[in-house]
Amino acid sequence: MARLPGRGDGPSLLLLSHTDTVVADASEWQLDPWSGEVRDGEIWGRGALDMKGEVAASAVALASLAREGFEPAGDLIFVATADEEVGDDFGLPWLCREHPDAVRADYALNEGGGERVELGGRAFYLCSTAEKMSSPFRLTVHGRGGHASMPRISDNALVKAAPVIERLAAYRPEPQLGVETDALVVAIFGERLEPDQVLEAARGLDPYAAEMLEPLLSLTLSPTIISASERRNVVPSTCVIDVDCRLLPGQTQEEAEGIVRGALGEGDYDLEWIEGRGGTRSPLETPLWSAVESFVAEVEPDATAVPLCVAGFTDSHWLREAFGTVAYGFFPMRAMDAREASRLVHSADERVAVDDLELGVDCFRHVARTLCS
Ligand SMILES: [Zn+2]
Repeated sequence: MARLPGRGDGPSLLLLSHTDTVVADASEWQLDPWSGEVRDGEIWGRGALDMKGEVAASAVALASLAREGFEPAGDLIFVATADEEVGDDFGLPWLCREHPDAVRADYALNEGGGERVELGGRAFYLCSTAEKMSSPFRLTVHGRGGHASMPRISDNALVKAAPVIERLAAYRPEPQLGVETDALVVAIFGERLEPDQVLEAARGLDPYAAEMLEPLLSLTLSPTIISASERRNVVPSTCVIDVDCRLLPGQTQEEAEGIVRGALGEGDYDLEWIEGRGGTRSPLETPLWSAVESFVAEVEPDATAVPLCVAGFTDSHWLREAFGTVAYGFFPMRAMDAREASRLVHSADERVAVDDLELGVDCFRHVARTLCS
């Protein structure tokens, strides 16, 4: 952590990033994933996008402002945490609990947005203001065990699980529009749309718009792990299916359980929630939003900043929960194509454009000067 103390008569701003990364298998990469090699204007290496690039840009923004003698109204704070990817309570949740005074802030900028996307010939910069809740559940399908050589005298739980999985896959929840997605739709289409019109309109505009919007219109269900008998000659009496489930911000597990049970119908199964993490949002009309908007207007006058509810999970949620911080994900990126970047995160050949790092530094300096002057 580093802090540029404020005069005490204005809001504080925290530049949040995490220093840990997922693993890298060097044999899958064209260049050494730990080299940080610069080639053709890009820095290669694990974490370049997620998110050592932003760690570096935040540090440079804070240090350069400090050297210039910038005196913010409220504290300007740099926090680079551990343990975001695994989430074993060594990172930001621990800091919020054990050292709240070190990380409390009115506003925060973090990962989770900033991509420039072109839709229907217009440019948008996505700024994430909310996150879905990671809310996986476990289905235990019950049958009756027996010897596999006499299948008719048992009731195979694995076989009974098959239609349950098919129902999960086939289910299409009723679409709904949260405030963020509503505002995003208005920005993209120039008018409000009914929830059930959004997907069709998006498909007509650009397949990428449909890909981006579909998971934001409802909870999502992805069965990912299954286990049944440990032995080939034993018919399983139970079959366990773990389902990755993401709820809309504000949606409760109780409400979701009704939806899931409705989709599955009556059956010989139990449903048990494994956890519920995230699902928080920050308001849209804030001084931080204005600062992000004015940055976009400065670097690309024809482009529009738009709010996004992200399907994934970031550390922003700990700040929102602990301190009511207005936390957005915004690290602008325009040199690298957003679709290419999303393929490189957590994958081989991760790299970041040097121009985008500089854009990030400009952004953080702009937001600090706008918000904390
Ligand atoms: Zn990350």
